[in-house]
This record gives sequence, C-alpha cells and structure tokens, in this order.
Amino acid sequence: MALSVRDARPARQDEALAPRLPALVRARYLLPLADTVGRSTRIADGYALWREGKLLEVGAFDPTVAERLIASFGTQLQVLTDRGVHRGVAELSDFFQHPGVLMPGFVKCHGHDHEPPIIGICKDMPLTRWLDGVINPFTGFLHDHRDALIERLGRSPQLVSYLKARVDDLCYGITTSMVHHCNFAKYFGDDLALAAETAGTQMIIAVGGQDRHYVERLLDTPHQATARLDGYLARHGDSALVRFIPGPDQFFSNGPEMLKELKAWARGHGTLLHCHSSEEKGTTAWFRRTYGQTPVEYAHSIGVLDRDTVVAHQVHCTERDLEILAETGVSVVHNPLANTILGSGMPPIPEMLRRGIPVAISTDGSGSADNQNILAAARLASQYQKALHSDAELLPAQQVLEMITVDAAKMLRMDAGSLAVGMRADLIVVDVTRPNMVPTRLGSVVENLIWASDGSEVELVVGGGRILRQGDVFHTLDVKQILQDVDVLSESFERHLAQAGAMQGTGANR
Ligand SMILES: [Zn+2]
Repeated sequence: MALSVRDARPARQDEALAPRLPALVRARYLLPLADTVGRSTRIADGYALWREGKLLEVGAFDPTVAERLIASFGTQLQVLTDRGVHRGVAELSDFFQHPGVLMPGFVKCHGHDHEPPIIGICKDMPLTRWLDGVINPFTGFLHDHRDALIERLGRSPQLVSYLKARVDDLCYGITTSMVHHCNFAKYFGDDLALAAETAGTQMIIAVGGQDRHYVERLLDTPHQATARLDGYLARHGDSALVRFIPGPDQFFSNGPEMLKELKAWARGHGTLLHCHSSEEKGTTAWFRRTYGQTPVEYAHSIGVLDRDTVVAHQVHCTERDLEILAETGVSVVHNPLANTILGSGMPPIPEMLRRGIPVAISTDGSGSADNQNILAAARLASQYQKALHSDAELLPAQQVLEMITVDAAKMLRMDAGSLAVGMRADLIVVDVTRPNMVPTRLGSVVENLIWASDGSEVELVVGGGRILRQGDVFHTLDVKQILQDVDVLSESFERHLAQAGAMQGTGANR
C-alpha cells in the first residue's frame, strides 16, 4: 500500500490527546452506521466528540454546534487536524474539516495474527497443502526455535508476528478483531494480548485446540484445553481490550468430548465459541463417510451450535446445514479473499442472509488472504455473488459495509462498529481526495468506499479515543523495528523450510 513509514518512531507524547479533555474530529462526510439514527444515514459535514474514550456527540456540524462547543468547553477542546492536535479552540475556523469520510473503525471477525511473516509463500495450492507446507511449519519453527530467535531479535518472535498483524490492521482501519489462535500459536496467547494492548486495538482471542487429525505433538486432552483457557483468563481477565474464548481449530480436528467440554466452558463463562467449519471438500467427505453427516449436522448432534457459536467459512453448505444454522442461530464469518485464493469455493451468502443467518465479512489471516484489506474483502463478497447469480442488486455497497462494521460488532458482542453517543470512540477517516476517490459526493460515498477505494485511503485511526495512526505515523507501534524483525523471521524461516520441508498431519491431507 501507499504508506511509506516516514517516521517509524511512536509520535511524541505532546502529539497525543489528553484523555480527560474532550476531543473532536470533523469530516466532509459522516457515516454513523448506527441503529439509533438508521444505518444508511449519510451526513454532509459531520463530527464526533468524545472524552475518556467514549463518544459524547455524533452528528451534523454547523456554526451553532461550534458556538455551543466553544461555550461549553472553551480552550479545553482538542480538535484533530491533518497535522496533529489543535488546542485552544476559539472560533469556527479552528474546527478543521478532514477531506474524508468519518465512520466507525472496521471490525474483523476472523483472522490469524501469526500469519503476517508468511505472506506470499506457497501460493496456488489448496488449503491442506498450505497448512502442512507453510502454516504448521512456520508456527512450529517459531515454537521450536523461540529461544534462539529471542536472542537474535531481542524479543519473542511470536510477539513480532502479532505486532506486524496489528500494523496491518491499523493500515486498513481495523480497530476490533477476533483472532483465531490455533496450531502452535495456542501456547502464545499472552504475546498476542500484549500486541493488542500495545497497539490499542480491541481483540477476542479464540484459543485453538485439537485432539485428532493433526500434528501429533499439538494434540490436547479436553482438560488441557480448558486449563489453558483458565490460565489465560486468570492472567488477562481484567484487560479492557482483550478477552479469551474457546476456538477449537475445526470440527474435523476436534472429537465430540473436546467440543462438548469447550462449549461447556464457553457457556459457563458466557463467551462465544469460534470454530472453522466446512472450509474444504475433503473434511466434509470424511464426515459423511464416518458419521453419515455433514460437519454442521455432526456439531448440531452433539449440542455445540447455538447463538453464541460463530463459525468461519461454511463454504460447503447443504440445504439441511442452512436449516440448522438458521434454527440454532449460529453466525457465519465469510472470508472471500482466502476462500478464492485457496480455491476452497464460496458459501451461499445470499441464501444465508435470506434465512436470517447473521453473516459478517472478514479477511482471514494475511498468509492466505494475502492482506488485511477488509474493504477489498467486502467488495469481493458482493462482486462474486452478483456475477454468480447474474443479479446486480445482490449485496449492495451499504449492506456489505454494514457486514464489516455494525453487523460484525453485533456478532462479536463488542462495543464497536457504529458511531453513537455512549459508545467506544473507535473511528476512522477515509481520505476522499485521492484520484481514485474523486469525485465522491454524499450520494456516492458508501458506493465509492466499496467500489472505488483500494483500501489504502484510511488516513486517521482512533481507538478508544486515542490516535493510533495518522497518515504514516503510528502512535503506538514502532513500525520500522517491527518490519525489520519480520524480515528477519521471514528469511530465517525460508532457510528452515528448505531443510525441514512440510509438516505432515493436517487431517484431510493424510
Ligand atoms: Zn481461518
């Protein structure tokens, strides 16, 4: 993307916002994407005002608003300009208007933060070969060579990978995510929590687990899996940004006792359970041979499907699967970038929506996607279905935008995805002066975000009321060092892979 990391050091403290004082962003367009005002509301010249991380006001800006704010807050008001923070607001001209779209930060419902260092490795191959050939060898490499890599990098190699994922998310305006933390990564949830807290992004960490059909030394007993969750909860239960939930890798690699135990843990702790489902044909065929059922029928038969279950993919989906998903209230995360690159196929999204199944659009990990451009994922989701069904009215821009903001946040039960009074101040400004975005008008602003944007126009990212990125300056992450370290990891892994080769054992690939 166009970011050039001119100054990789975090911004000076005096460029940060004072959290106890009110802060304001004003922009040419405002999309609240909130049920309180109607999701499709588009406002010309809008603003958001917040203090201590919570939104105080969201709406149309005009001179009377300026007068009222000056009278109420006087010199305490902080206005975000294109050059940082302006304090001492005294007149209308002090309210800088960003030439862009003010909207909630994007919400990514399914990703893998261990994948950034393996972008671009082993393309043009199906899922299981990619898992065996790249993902498992890479996370195994970090696990087995952790001490040597710590010596080389001066910090945990897992943390380096997770920090790079935070950089990627901030590049594309993602302020909230659910990370499926499977394979060897399941042992390093503490590093992932540290990465999220360092970046200032909200995160659900779905801790992966397997007890069959996988690399032998990764297999857990149900007790080990729940004990791991208990440990994470004990260490991070008071975190304002991070929560841990069960994230069995997929129904195929978890037997019934494991799945029931993890679902019981989720119910006992009032959390979601997140799992891959029906991503490729081989596993579905195995379920039919073994149980005479699809993966969804099997999961339903052992009682793990309900409104608090979120499955990723659900590509291979029968009529009966759709009925079960609708009856049980399961949510689906659609990942069109990964599903198409890996040749997995695409799920019947319009049919799911017609039946009332909640669907969010996400990127999946950057190893398979190969980026975190969530606007591109939304575009592909729409574009594919329009072409497949020869129906230009399917999945309009407004709908897919909601599927990466307000719908996605509701699925995760997170305070995000909309701009409304009382909500967390997670917001972005998308520049509409880039050549590809001109002209953008009130009537075309949503359409241009989906169809004209290349994803790199996100100019300002605010999370919990803090500036996380403005232009190419990252306020919470030392990007230059992170990118250097990721290059070291990538180079070391390339050498390792040339000697060690694939790690056999990913189920359907046996
Ligand atoms: Zn995934």
